[in-house]
Amino acid sequence: MQARLIDGKAIAAAVREQVATQAAGFRAQTGIIPHLAAVLVGRDPASSVYVKNKRLACDKAGLSSSLDELPAETTQTELLAVVRRLNADPGVHGILVQLPLPPQIETQAVLDAVNPIKDVDCFHPENVGRMVQGRPRFLPCTPHGVQHLLHAAGVETAGAHVVVLGRSEIVGKPMALLLMQKGPGANATVTICHSQTRNLTAVMRTADILIAAIGRAGFVTADAVKPGAVVIDVGTNRVGDKLVGDVDFAGVSQVAAAMTPVPGGVGPMTIAMLLKNTLEAARLQAKVGGHFNFSSSQS
Ligand code: NAP
Repeated sequence: MQARLIDGKAIAAAVREQVATQAAGFRAQTGIIPHLAAVLVGRDPASSVYVKNKRLACDKAGLSSSLDELPAETTQTELLAVVRRLNADPGVHGILVQLPLPPQIETQAVLDAVNPIKDVDCFHPENVGRMVQGRPRFLPCTPHGVQHLLHAAGVETAGAHVVVLGRSEIVGKPMALLLMQKGPGANATVTICHSQTRNLTAVMRTADILIAAIGRAGFVTADAVKPGAVVIDVGTNRVGDKLVGDVDFAGVSQVAAAMTPVPGGVGPMTIAMLLKNTLEAARLQAKVGGHFNFSSSQS
């Protein structure tokens, strides 16, 4: 069997085009250009590239963006002051604090400080809670991107056994939550695996849909994949000068029915969903007219 390739680039381009059309309509109606404010602390080359690509994508979709570039020695107090300034700025609709942050900064405290109505990454506990309850304000970009990929590729999730490899707050946990929800594009039976999972290969082999998000190059080999399964590779690992996923592409493509490549799979979807969330944030803020009560979220 030779797996069908799920083309994340093409699917993401369609989402970005849709956002561009909707953003133009929103601007014509309200005069508002959705604005994403990015915050980058330090000089991590990968983070700089991610932020640059996100801003470029904003530009192409007719959204505006700005960047606060802070030195690696920035204190938590200084970073929180930047977040509060962006929270209070009515011209900013989405706030993106690029992770990882330097070790002197408590990441959760910073994410908690972002106004939930501007939390386009969906990391704020209020937004995570809403997602868990099935009444989301925003959906987290990478998991939502994967869900959209599955839908666009015609992969049925209802009743399918999905195995998610990884339980991080950013990918694994919200990924599992999205697919187990009641509703279209979900309704899956989900198993989450992590570094303590016993008989991992055997568990992975039970998956109709296997989603790998662990950050280990080529970890998922053909013997861990049920013939005919769909395999989504979220991993991005630098090996020499190459970017590779968590899935051994050459081997797994011989047994899977469909799979995503790295690069060109999940990565472009993450950015497309960030644009979608930024437009949604601008819409929400236009509705409440800047009167969102944030006091309960700052205690
Ligand atoms: P993370 O926070 O480091 O979490 C990794 C998870 O994988 C943890 O739950 C860990 O288990 C589990 N794990 C690690 N080694 C394992 C092993 N040998 N067997 C089973 N489970 C194992 O990473 P992350 O932020 O979720 O990111 C995962 C990957 O996705 C990375 O390569 C990252 O670069 C990539 N990523 C890509 C995008 C995109 O847009 N394409 C976006 C975000 C992340 P424990 O919890 O037990 O430690």
